Amino acid sequence: MVDRFHGKVVIVTGAASGIGEATARRFVAEGAKAALIDRDEASLEKVANSLPADQVMVQTADVSDSRAVDGMVAAVIGRFGRLDVIVNNAGVHEGGDPASITDEKWRKVMSTDIDGVFYGCRAALPHLEKTKGSIVNTASVSGTGGDWGMSPYNAAKGAVVNLTRALALDLGKKGIRVNGVCPSLTRTGMTEDMMDDKKLLTKFAERIPLGRVCEPQEVAAVIAFLASDDASFMTGANVAVDGGVSASNGQPP
Ligand code: NAD
Repeated sequence: MVDRFHGKVVIVTGAASGIGEATARRFVAEGAKAALIDRDEASLEKVANSLPADQVMVQTADVSDSRAVDGMVAAVIGRFGRLDVIVNNAGVHEGGDPASITDEKWRKVMSTDIDGVFYGCRAALPHLEKTKGSIVNTASVSGTGGDWGMSPYNAAKGAVVNLTRALALDLGKKGIRVNGVCPSLTRTGMTEDMMDDKKLLTKFAERIPLGRVCEPQEVAAVIAFLASDDASFMTGANVAVDGGVSASNGQPP
């Protein structure tokens, strides 16, 4: 394992599970001090307890609440004194028949999946400007193409993709890089039910050039790359981590 984050401080939201957990583990393994953020306190503690105590802090926060997000960043600065990277990763995955999507469901997805990403970026900016740091947002292949029955999620992830581009323009001259990842189906808490459905998995695998679903560590590796100096001339990129799915024009194999 390389040691690209020694002396650096990173925030990972949605760190209690899946891609966020794998990302936090990756940063810690590469020497970072990591702030693990999630609204699920019990799972967050479990993850943190399995990592070196001097390298992690946990903060329970709901990313859809801008004051909580401001508080989370302030707590990280209070504990570690600086901020080099924020990974805005927390998300929910909900959809349904468009005619029956309630205001409540629409707001729930928007408030976490896009508002929460913006709040994280905004709160981190003054600190990232000092360190010439970087932002990585977890979007999705669902942000670059539609899924059947997932319009709120698709709308929110599409907004994340373009927020990443827009912020890259505004922040480049300040020395802050902003990139995103667009994973396809990944084995996490979010997709647990799908992973038990062998027929569905086979259907997915047939459409994925690499022939299998993604593991959270494979997304974490790309996030860590984008956050690191190895990606020093990359900004505004939304990197597909999708086994080749987005290379297809949609025709069946
Ligand atoms: P997950 O459910 O395993 O983890 C998501 C975490 O986010 C959970 O720990 C949850 O408690 C937390 N969270 C949700 N809402 C929150 C809120 N308002 N405030 C704070 N924390 C909150 O799912 P995952 O698959 O690891 O998802 C991580 C990100 O990856 C999400 O943005 C998701 O949309 C994206 N993504 C996932 C897949 C996939 O197939 N799993 C594919 C593409 C993109």
